[in-house]
Order: sequence, then C-alpha cells, then structure tokens
Amino acid sequence: MSRIFSGIQPSGELHIGNYLGAVKNWAQLQHVHAGSIFCVVDYHAISGNYDPAMLRARRWGMAKSLLAAGIDPAHATLFMQSDVPEHTELSWILTTITPIGDLERQTQFKDKSTKLESIPAGLLMYPVLQAADILLYRADAVPVGEDQIQHLELARDTARKWNARFGEEFFPEPRPLLTPTRRIVGLDGQAKMSKSLGNTVGLLETDDEIWAKLRPAMTDPARVRKTDPGNPDVCNIFQLHKAFSDTDTQANVVQQCTTAGWGCMDCKKVLHGNMIAEFTPIRERAAALDAEPQRVLDALADGGRAARAIAQETMAEVRERMGMGALTLPSA
Ligand code: SF4
Repeated sequence: MSRIFSGIQPSGELHIGNYLGAVKNWAQLQHVHAGSIFCVVDYHAISGNYDPAMLRARRWGMAKSLLAAGIDPAHATLFMQSDVPEHTELSWILTTITPIGDLERQTQFKDKSTKLESIPAGLLMYPVLQAADILLYRADAVPVGEDQIQHLELARDTARKWNARFGEEFFPEPRPLLTPTRRIVGLDGQAKMSKSLGNTVGLLETDDEIWAKLRPAMTDPARVRKTDPGNPDVCNIFQLHKAFSDTDTQANVVQQCTTAGWGCMDCKKVLHGNMIAEFTPIRERAAALDAEPQRVLDALADGGRAARAIAQETMAEVRERMGMGALTLPSA
C-alpha cells in the first residue's frame, strides 16, 4: 500500500490559495491512496512570532475547513501535529545528521531570515521538522506545490543519510506528487495568495464578500478599455477560471476576452458563479460542523490515535537501530 503524507499550516479557515494549492488535491488523492495521512502542522506554526489565542482559533478553523472541504476520516488520517510528540523527537534525531550549510541554503530560510533582526533557530530547522513529519510515517510520496520541492529534496537526502548509517532502506525516499494547480497568485496580481498579505478569498465567505473582492481584482493590465482585446494568459482571473470553470467556459473566456466580446466584469461574474457552485457544498458541511463541533474533535482524536500508532512503531525501530532502545543487561 503506498502511503502519502502532507501537512498544512493552521492558518484558520481555508482560502482559495491553500484549497487549490493543496486541499482540493488531497480530497481526490485520499480515494486513490488508501494510506493517506494529512496533518495540521501546528509545531511549524510556532517557528515565528505568534499569538497563542489566535493559534488556537486558527487550528480549529483549519481542522473544520479540511473536513468541510472533503477530507474524509473514513478514507484518510487527519490529525493535529502536536498530538503526536514523536514528530519533535524524530526532528531532533534528524538534526544530528543534517549539515547546517544545507539548511542555510534553503530559499525559504534565506527569504524569511533576511527580514528578521534575530533569527530563531526554529526557522533554520523548519525543513528538518518537515523531513521528520514525512519520514515518521515512512511515506512513499508527498503531494507538494513547486515551492516545497527544495524542502522535499532535503527530506530525501536526510532519508538517504540516515539509512546509510543506521538501516538500509528503512526510510523510503519520498517522491513528490506535484499538485496540478500551479501557484495561485493573490487578487492583487502581485504575490502568492496569503492571509498575511490580505489578498485571499475564503471558501466560507459569503457570496457578497467574495464578489466584493473579485470585482476590483487585477486583470490584464494592458486592457484599459472594455473595447480593448485582452490576453487571458497574463490575467489572474483566467487562472482562476482554469481552476473553477469547465473547459467549455474556459474556451469561451479566451474567445470573449481576445475579441473584447466581454468586459472584465462579465468575465468575473461567470467566475463568481462557478466559485459559489463549488463552495456551496463545502459551506454546507462547515455549517453542519459548526452545529456539531464535537465531530471535529472526534475526527482529530481518531486521527491522532491512528497517527501515534504508526509514529510509535517507527520510533521504536529508529531508537533500536541507533542504539537507544530499551536498555538490557550487558552480556557476560
Ligand atoms: S476578460 Fe477575463 S480573462 Fe480577459 S482580461 Fe478581463 S478578466 Fe481577464
């Protein structure tokens, strides 16, 4: 049975960036890979400054959203990372075989650390914890976006190094399963969609709230007047049509845009309708979970138990191979 593992930051309720970039794909993969394991990575979320009350709310928002978006505990293991302390144990073990230079070369570390006066060691070690997350479950594959490929390569290196020292082929080298949707740019058209940049659309926002964000969203900057033909390939709205509209509609968008048949508002209205159609069942499931929040806790408790069982088995073997298993009397 092939096992996949992937994690998501507890950033509160899902927005279309993390939905299209990860979770929509997970909801499909769970039916293909019987051993799908999905984790809300709250240990990762404390590697920078944060507010504990906000973290608590965001962990809840993400857990509820994942269930609402279709992660089904009958098909996948869904849990909170901090419910499985073996993540941090294996992370420490892996730091002992990871060269600091490899961590300092990580693009995300370089980007984030240049903005800080004092750099927490956790920021440097972040990819080691990611490697531990994956290797703990001895996952064969990891659904990732392109921006996570470098970290996954480090996890593969780490598996090779550990195997070479302590146990041939104990850890599989996890291969990437590239998420089909490419990086989703924010509605400002400038940067990756991210809550901290305020350029997102939440799946659980109302129809009006979503329209209020879509209406002023960036389109083809060269299309100044409605009579100017546009170029869908440079327009973020067209990228969203590719995610939410069927192929006939996408072809019609290209036709209407390049001939100035539609104005951008016409185009956005069609997109808005298709987004709402996709979000409606998700919102209905979220409302049902709001009415019965114990279901979220029960799902996470079951997932935590299943994840701990695998993690404990892995760590027993890791400790044993590293000379740290239960101490026995020295042989005479
Ligand atoms: S018509 Fe649609 S695809 Fe073309 S520029 Fe406007 S919003 Fe973008």
